[in-house]
Amino acid sequence: MTDEKNWEKWEGPGGPEGKGGTSIAASSGPDEVEGRNRQFVAVCATCGMQTYIGADWKWFTCWKCGGTNSEMIA
Ligand SMILES: [Zn+2]
Repeated sequence: MTDEKNWEKWEGPGGPEGKGGTSIAASSGPDEVEGRNRQFVAVCATCGMQTYIGADWKWFTCWKCGGTNSEMIA
């Protein structure tokens, strides 16, 4: 059982729709982020970096490589 979602590289044009933002470096820890809901772990499809994102995000921009990832619809 896992809460992890699968992510794929967003190829554009434009940006993904829905809620999203810039991911947070895992080293900062989810407990240090105030004013946010529970964090999910996501792995960037471009560079493989593990990051924290909002629980209800549909997309995120990697804090490390700047690549945009969108939720993979199975
Ligand atoms: Zn990345």
